[in-house]
Order: sequence, then structure tokens, then C-alpha cells
Amino acid sequence: ATKEETLGFQTEVKQLLNLMIHSLYSNREIFLRELISNAADACDKLRYAALDNDALFEGDSELRVEIEHDSEAGTVTLRDNGIGMNREDVIANLGTIAKSGTAEFLQQMSGEQQKDANLIGQFGVGFYSSFIVSDEVTVRTRQAGSEAAEGVEWRSKGEGEFSIAEVELERHGTEIVLQLKDDAQEYADDFRLQNLVRKYSDHIEVPVRMPKTETAKDDEGNEIEGSEVTTWETINEATALWVRPKGEVTEDEYKAFYKHVSHDFSDPLTWSHNKVEGKLEYTSLLFVPGRAPFDLYERDGARGVKLYVQRVFIMDDAEQFLPLYLRFVKGVLDTRDLSLNVSREILQQDPQVEKIKSALTKRSLDMLKKLAKDNEAYQTFWNTFGSVLKEGPGEDASNREKIAGLLRFASTHTDSATQDQSLADYVERMKDGQQKIYYIVADGFNAVKNSPHLEIFRKKGIEVLLLSDRIDEWLMSHLTEFDGKSLTDVAKGELDLGDVEDADEKKAQEETAKDKEDLVKRVKEALSDGVQEVKITHRLTDSPACVVLPENEMGFQMRRIMEAAGQ
Ligand code: ADP
Ligand code: MG
Repeated sequence: ATKEETLGFQTEVKQLLNLMIHSLYSNREIFLRELISNAADACDKLRYAALDNDALFEGDSELRVEIEHDSEAGTVTLRDNGIGMNREDVIANLGTIAKSGTAEFLQQMSGEQQKDANLIGQFGVGFYSSFIVSDEVTVRTRQAGSEAAEGVEWRSKGEGEFSIAEVELERHGTEIVLQLKDDAQEYADDFRLQNLVRKYSDHIEVPVRMPKTETAKDDEGNEIEGSEVTTWETINEATALWVRPKGEVTEDEYKAFYKHVSHDFSDPLTWSHNKVEGKLEYTSLLFVPGRAPFDLYERDGARGVKLYVQRVFIMDDAEQFLPLYLRFVKGVLDTRDLSLNVSREILQQDPQVEKIKSALTKRSLDMLKKLAKDNEAYQTFWNTFGSVLKEGPGEDASNREKIAGLLRFASTHTDSATQDQSLADYVERMKDGQQKIYYIVADGFNAVKNSPHLEIFRKKGIEVLLLSDRIDEWLMSHLTEFDGKSLTDVAKGELDLGDVEDADEKKAQEETAKDKEDLVKRVKEALSDGVQEVKITHRLTDSPACVVLPENEMGFQMRRIMEAAGQ
């Protein structure tokens, strides 16, 4: 090895390594899933790159992953003939975490959270999980199509630094040697490895093989010396999961596949697997994660589906196939309607993409509608992704009504901060003669719940939706109707309770207004330019006065957002 160099891991990697080793101890077998997942990705990437340049296969186009072990040496070795890495790739991929927001996220984690495997899992534990079972890890890799002399050897004990050197490598692709810890020797075992491959990697299309050595026996049943023959046996099913008929795929297989495509650590909440033939031809397998990735609100957070064209992997994170408000949906799209040499640029212009996007959007909304039949699961979904879905009515007018049906709100019906009431629930409870759906928006749940604007509604037993998320005012500016009933902000404009109000009250109201004309005049003079209008109201039962915005005025929240944006 020449040009050997020792480099330090990025701080975030050190933190993550530390946390991972402790929090994932009881799940440590997942290292194999992660390494096979990477090897399969590398094979996918080579197959794609070779579409343009067959020479990249270097004469070996039978893509595969091989796993070997040596129980005496205490090692497990994984090998793939995929795309491989050059020196820069190795330093970037196996020395840093590129995702933005990582540092902040790690810093914010409290002591208790640090032990939570699921939180760590949000990063997609990936390659670094090999250190949960290894004292030392050696990676030898060479980029497909490069010279044998351009191989790279990376080595680390996972303790803050790694070494990197130039080596000569005959084969392209990547080989990873794990020197197992004393208490992880169990993995250097045929039976154990085979079970894990079947458990985690059946759904991977690339064959995962292990060597099988057979020794011929003589007539008396004794092994003949020197007759050992080693053959490679494929351990996994090795068919792409989404190609298989729905009925043949088990729940566990779907879950394992989800972990592979999403780089998530925990189970999905639900999924939807569809094969479509006709004008459009595609297969989609979409998942709703059970947890938010830590970068859900990062501008450059990963989103979109894994795109295949006729089974050939094209790209990760193809974001053109789902709207922004469904950015939490993960999965695979395999289609015949695009050409094998599509690029991100072409995707932006291809009219087929718009059609598939609209179809996948409907599929996703239907999947959520189905999920909503299970209250508990849907509540988990809503608490995790509800505020993202609230972007929907503004972004996607064509599906507004569908999205509206999926929204959940806090309400005076329960007076709890939990957002668990649908608009349909509200409509069902509407009073005789009530024509509108009432809501109120403010900063913070306590502020809405105690708003003086609610006094009259509480008195009359009319339900009001209590909105206090940052996005709520934006949402309501796009959601003006549901089920033929208009949505009305109780803090804006004239208060119209429709037929719920009786005629006597109205008359009394008008009389009071007349009586108090003088008072109104004086208050108005006192407040002068501070207000547009002073009026007698029956909004209030306990409070003496409140501020009301004119009907078409921007609300308090929106004003603040616009001000923050410098407008
Ligand atoms: P992720 O798979 O989520 O990107 P990992 O930590 O598992 O994260 O891997 C980091 C990166 O290292 C991968 O994105 C890939 O670029 C590279 N990598 C890992 N294993 C391999 C491999 N066997 N062949 C080629 N590249 C690899
Ligand atoms: Mg990975």
C-alpha cells in the first residue's frame, strides 16, 4: 500500500458511532442488512452507468454480492462487483455524514434519547453500523472502469480516525472485511449468515451468494482428501419485490423492503402496492413511514421515490413524482413509459411524468384514507406528518376536497390540544340551522382555547375548530369550503351565526347598539387612528371588548410570517 494517510472522522460521525454502538446493541444483526443494501445499491448503479458504457462491467456483467466468513480468524467478508468508489468517494462517504441538519440534530439529543434506537435509526444507520460488531473494518474498493492501480484501501477501528491508502485491485467493486468483536463471533457462521440474508435481503434483486464446499466421499463414506469443490450458492430469493404478485409477498418482506429503500430503521405504518397497465404502465410500491426523518423540514432533505425503468434502477429520490406535501412518502416506481436514459432534467419536461405524478398522488391519498380507518395508526401518522399534509390544499387545488377529508383538528368539542377531529366529524355534530364550519387561529393552543371570540360559541354550544400550528392560517386561506359548507374564521368580519341565532336576540342586539351609540362614539374618538371601526357585539359574554379583523384582512399569523419575510 502506498500514499497511506490517516484522517479524522467528521465530528458528527464520531458522535453517531458512539451513539450507535450503545443504542443499537440489541439490534446489532442489522449491520448485515445495511452492508447488503449498500452492495445491492452499488450493483444497481453500475447497471445504470453501463447502459451508456458497457466497458464499465470490465467483462463481468453478472452482478452479485458474495459473503464469506472465517470462523478461525473471526472475520466476515462482503464483496460486490458494483460501481465501487474512488479515493474522494471513500473519504466523503465513509468519513462524513453529508445530510444537512445532522450536527444540530445530534446536539439536541438528550441523554435518554441517545439510547433510543429509533432516533438513531432516523439517520439510516448505514455503513457505520458495521462497527457495532467489529473491532476493525477494512474496505477495499475500486471504481468500475478505472485502472487496477487505482484501488483504495480504507481501514478503521471506529475510534475517531481512519487510514486510507492506494492499492492494486484486480476486480472493480467493493470488498468489506469485518474483524468481529469477541462477543460477536457468532456471526462468523454459515447457518447464522444464511438466516440473516433470508430475513433481510430476500427482496433484493441482486443474488447474494455464499460458498458451499463439498467433499467427495469414498465407498466407505470417508472424505477423499483434495476433492473439495466450492460452489457459490444463491441464498436470497433474488427477485425484485415489487415485481412479485401482491398475494405472494408477506408483511415481513414488505417491511424489510421498506427499510432498504427508505434507509429507515423502523417499520412503515402502511403501504400500497399497485400494478397499472393500459395508457400508463407502471408498478408502484409506496410506503408511509412510521417516523419523521430528522430532515423533514430541511430544504434539501431527501424526498421522492426510487425510480426504475423496466426494472433497471435509474435514480434515488426522484422528487418529480410526488407533490411537496407528500414528501414523507417513500417507495419505488418502476415504469415502461420513460426511456432508460432519462435524467433529472428530462423528468422536469416529460409530460408522462405529470401523469404518473397525478396517479401516484391519488394512490397516496387513497392509502391515507384507508389508514384513517384505524384511528390509532392514523393518529400516529397525523402527529408525525399532519403539518406537512396541511400544505396540500394550497399546493394541489385538484385534490383539495380529498385532502380536506384527511385533515385533523383540535376542537372545542374535546378542548384538548390533540388534533383528532375530522371535518366530517364536525359536520355531523353541526347544530340545526348551522350553515358554516367555524374555526379560530392563534399562536399556541392556550391562546386559541381561551380566546374571547369563543365566548358566544361556547354559550350556544356551537363547536369551533382550534387552530394553532404555524401553517394553519396558510391552510385556511386555501380551504374555504368542505362538504358544501363554508369555513369561517370567528375572529374576522361580522359574526353570522345563521339560523342558530334567534330573532329576539337579534332585536335586543340592535336596541343595545342604538342605546350605546354615544359610548361607541367616545371609544372611537379615544382610539382614533388605531382602529377602523368600533361596534357593539354579541360575540362576548364575559369579556368587555375584543379586537376583530375585517373579513378580507390578513390574519395575525400571516402578518407575522410576511413581516418575517421582510414584506
Ligand atoms: P446510505 O446507503 O444511506 O447512502 P451508507 O452509510 O449505508 O448510507 O453508505 C454511505 C455511502 O457509501 C453510500 O451512499 C455509497 O455512496 C457508499 N457506499 C457504501 N457501500 C458501498 C458499496 N458497497 N459500493 C459502493 N459504494 C458504497
Ligand atoms: Mg446504506
